Amino acid sequence: MPNDKTFQYPQNPVEYIAGQQEANVIITSFGDMLTWAQNWARSRSIWPLGYGLACCAIEMMAAAQSHYDLSRWGSEVFRSSPRQSDLMIVAGTVCIKMGPRLIRLYEQMPDPKWVLSMGQCANSGGEFYDSYYTVQGVDTLVPVDIYVPGCPPRPEQLIEGILKLREKIEKQGLKIQGEA
Ligand code: SF4
Repeated sequence: MPNDKTFQYPQNPVEYIAGQQEANVIITSFGDMLTWAQNWARSRSIWPLGYGLACCAIEMMAAAQSHYDLSRWGSEVFRSSPRQSDLMIVAGTVCIKMGPRLIRLYEQMPDPKWVLSMGQCANSGGEFYDSYYTVQGVDTLVPVDIYVPGCPPRPEQLIEGILKLREKIEKQGLKIQGEA
C-alpha cells in the first residue's frame, strides 16, 4: 500500500474522475453509429452482481451509498440475480469451495457480461497466496476485464475501475483513433 506521503487519496470522487474522456472512436458507417449507440447505452447502465465474499465487500457497499453515490454513473442497481446483471464484481477472497458456484453464476449471466476483480485476494490470492483453500486469482476461473488493486481498495478505486470498464465497453467493435 502506498503511504500518505507518496499518494494523496482524493477527498472528492468527482475530482478523481475529472479529465475522463469518452473513447475517441472512428465512425465511418451507419453500422458503426449503431454500435456506438449500443456501447454508449450499455456503458452507462452497468448493473453489477454484488459478489461480496470478504472484507472488500464493505468497500463495495460503501461505493453504492450516498457519500460515494455510484448511481451518478448508472451502476448502483446491484442485483441479487445473475440473470439481471452484466457485471460481476468479485469482492473478496474466493475459497476453493466457492469456485464452482462462481463459475455457475457467471454462466447464468446474459451476454454481454464483464468481470471486475476487486482487491488482492480476488486478483491473486493476496494474503492467502499459495494457500491450499484459496483460489489464486479469480481469473483462473472466469475471464476478468478489470483488476482493482488494494487491500481493501477504497470506494474511489472501485469507481475508477467501473469507469475504466466503461471506456472499454465504449470501444467494443469500433476502431479507435491513433490505434492500428
Ligand atoms: S484484499 Fe484485503 S480487504 Fe480484500 S478480501 Fe482480501 S484481505 Fe480482505
